[in-house]
Amino acid sequence: MKFVGAHVSSSGGVFNAPKNAQAIGAKAFALFTKNQRRWDAKPYDAKTIDKFKKALEESGIAPKHVLPHDSYLINLGHPEADKREKSLNAFLDEVQRCEQLGLDRINFHPGSHLKQISEEQCMDIIAENCNKVLDQTEGVSLVIENTAGQGSNLGYKFEHLAYIIDRVEDKSRMGVCLDTCHTFVAGYDLRTKEAYEKTMDEFDRIVGAKYLMGMHLNDSKPPLGSKKDRHHSLGQGEIGWDAFGFIMNDPRMDDIPMVLETIDDTIWDQEIKALYDLVEQ
Ligand SMILES: [Zn+2]
Ligand SMILES: [Zn+2]
Repeated sequence: MKFVGAHVSSSGGVFNAPKNAQAIGAKAFALFTKNQRRWDAKPYDAKTIDKFKKALEESGIAPKHVLPHDSYLINLGHPEADKREKSLNAFLDEVQRCEQLGLDRINFHPGSHLKQISEEQCMDIIAENCNKVLDQTEGVSLVIENTAGQGSNLGYKFEHLAYIIDRVEDKSRMGVCLDTCHTFVAGYDLRTKEAYEKTMDEFDRIVGAKYLMGMHLNDSKPPLGSKKDRHHSLGQGEIGWDAFGFIMNDPRMDDIPMVLETIDDTIWDQEIKALYDLVEQ
């Protein structure tokens, strides 16, 4: 069974996110657990946590179908020690927020070498930081998102994801989130059944399908292999509807949160419905 939703707003408080998801017919959702463009946020009070848990229960959405997204400011592979520390602390805070909210996974972008260190050095640092966070928390898996490969961002090759996971001690708490736009612009085709199977088989061989703990469903404005990160509404970009049909009928995507990050939030309800209509009976 598939659990599809969108990255909904949590403005006014995290407890508003489940209602926003419910309103568009979502069975899963993503959210920011704090303002994603600021380093600091005040800790949750008990009332906020209670309200979130209550709202989630009322929405009928299971905690495992919620995929919080980390702040865009965080770079766990930062080449400079002081900035890396700042990112590590901010990430740790976010994982602890997930613990408090009773959520079991958090989606993060691996990091950027900023052309100051090698890809391997950067990935070693990312893995080391994952180990530190896992040591200090419980019950939350770290879900690495594959990236478009824009700038010096790592994670655009399946090998990068495998490299990082390989160096993390507790692999039972590591996962991967595949973003269809990022996958496609990174050079992995999804447009035909044959191309889709080739890409997913490669993912399975290099990383392992068992690590798949989330999906971001986005069409892409730029073409295959362009390494440019520009999302589009489903069916309106370079990927097209067929790919989403393959995904909606692929058992590898059963029971994980699948989240729209498409550009027009006024049609998310229609996109969700259209995705479910692709499921073959
Ligand atoms: Zn992301
Ligand atoms: Zn994404």
